[in-house]
Parts: sequence; C-alpha cells; structure tokens
Amino acid sequence: MTKAFVVGHPIKHSRSPLIHGHWLKQHGLAGSYERIDVAPADFPEFLKTFAARGFAGGNVTIPHKETAYLNVDRRTAKAERLKAVNTLWIEDGLVWGDNTDVVGFMSHLDRSLGKSWEQAVETALVIGAGGAARAIVAGLQDRPIGRIFVANRTLSKATELVRDLAGGGMLEVLPWEEIGGAIAKAGLIVNTTSLGMAGQPALDLELAGARSDAVVADIVYVPLKTPLLAAAEARHLRIVDGLGMLLHQAVPGFSRWFGVTPDVTPELRALIVADIEGER
Ligand code: NAP
Repeated sequence: MTKAFVVGHPIKHSRSPLIHGHWLKQHGLAGSYERIDVAPADFPEFLKTFAARGFAGGNVTIPHKETAYLNVDRRTAKAERLKAVNTLWIEDGLVWGDNTDVVGFMSHLDRSLGKSWEQAVETALVIGAGGAARAIVAGLQDRPIGRIFVANRTLSKATELVRDLAGGGMLEVLPWEEIGGAIAKAGLIVNTTSLGMAGQPALDLELAGARSDAVVADIVYVPLKTPLLAAAEARHLRIVDGLGMLLHQAVPGFSRWFGVTPDVTPELRALIVADIEGER
C-alpha cells in the first residue's frame, strides 16, 4: 500500500488529507495520506527518514518549505527558482523536491478564464511579496504579459522578490501607496497577502477605476468569497477565488505517489467548500 503525508507545524487544519482521500477513493486505490506534525528542529531528520518509514512522499507546508528546499537531494527547476519545496518524492533512492504552487495557481486561472486569457492582459498587479506571491509571479512570468507590478506593504520584500525572480517577464516594484494608480492599468489584479482571510482586515482596493475587462483573483480561500472578490463582483468584474489553487497544486504530488493523475472536479470542490463552511 502506497503511503503519503502532509508535514507541517501545526498541521491539524490542513485540508490536504480530504483532497487526497477523495482521489484515493475515487480511483479505488489502496493508499493512505496522513497529517504529520513535525517541529522545525526535527524536520531535517524527518526528510532523511520518511522513505525508510515506508512513505512514497508527501506535501510540505508552513513552516518547512524553505528547509525542505535546502535539504532535499534534488530539486526541479521550479523549486530552484522559488527556493521553496512543497512536494517530495523518492526517485532512485534520492529525495526530490518540487514546488507545485505555480502550476496550482496557473491551472486554476486557465480553467476559470479559458484558453489564451493572458493575451488580453498587458499589465498584471500582484499585491503581496510573501512565499505564495513568488509562486504567482513566477507563473505569470511564463506567460506573455508585458508588465507585472509587485506591491507590498514592506517595500524591501517586494524589491527582494523582484531581484530574485528577475530574468523572466518584466517585473516592477510598486510602492504600496501607488496601488490605486496601477489599478486602472491592470488586466489582472491578484491578492497574495493574508488580508481578507477570516479574522484579518479586508484588502480595501478602490476598484472604481478598474478596467471593465479586468480579472480580480484572490488566493485567500477562507472565506471563499473575500471582501475583495465581493467588491469586484459588485462592479461586474470577473473573479477567480483561491480554492482552485489549493486543489490544483495537489495534482502533481498525487500523480507521482499513486501513479494516477487525478482531476479537479466540481464534486471535489464541493467537498472542500462544505468543510470550509462547516468550520465557520
Ligand atoms: P507570507 O509569506 O507570510 O506572506 C504574507 C503576505 O501578506 C506578505 O506580503 C505581507 O506583507 C502581507 N500582509 C500580511 N498582513 C498584512 C497587512 N496587515 N497589510 C498588508 N499586507 C499584509 O504568507 P504566504 O505563504 O505568502 O500566504 C499568503 C496568503 O496566501 C495566506 O492567506 C495563505 O493562506 C494564502 N495561500 C493560499 C494558497 C492557495 O492554495 N490558495 C497557497 C498559499 C498561500 P509584509 O511583507 O509587509 O508583511
């Protein structure tokens, strides 16, 4: 029986077991996927020993993504670029690490907006410069988008992100106070900060000047419809919520561990939505 895990600290709120459990059942596979709580001091040892404990691999979440990046034997180009690993597996006796947040965000955008959506986007505005912002910026850089603004409350972190990811699409740091001016230019606006999450203040953007064809995406998924998405919808802008990213980032890991590439179906989405709503 193939065994996989999600490792983090704390880990009890992870929805990954629900996602992978659904796919195991759907495909009639005799596998398991479990939560493992590992404190930061013990994580390097966990990385070295999970294969001997019978695991094929697993997902890595907060706060271990950077330590995983530093300690795996081999990394994919995406993980190398982002300096963070969220998916582990064993190949020829070596521990490999990938970062599937990029494909998670981009697959969800593609599914939600349709093929070639980026052709209508000359300028994208990414708000936030944390770990998730790096994955989103790297994904957008692979598309023919003319200019990507990165705005963050702490300007130095936006500058660092732009420096680290330079070399792909055109990136520009945007001071937080200038977000309002960039909204009118942006064909795609993405919130990657934790603002709008349950218990946090909203990301309060003035969308009155937004282009009528602009898309507003949020990677926060609790609540599913953040105040930013609600405000965008009220202005009849297209919106993309954060749950799809979570579901799509899980696909490559499942495929590596269990040998079947699963699909993100309305049924899976409904299962996670019910769980989110049950918690609130
Ligand atoms: P992170 O590395 O801690 O980054 C947090 C970001 O939020 C930083 O840019 C930070 O700005 C900003 N921020 C926090 N409080 C703020 C405030 N009061 N005002 C302005 N900016 C504020 O976190 P992360 O891993 O990137 O995650 C960010 C969010 O994305 C979380 O809500 C997380 O749940 C969500 N997420 C979703 C998915 C998904 O699959 N949908 C995947 C990953 C993450 P400073 O630099 O100024 O502190």
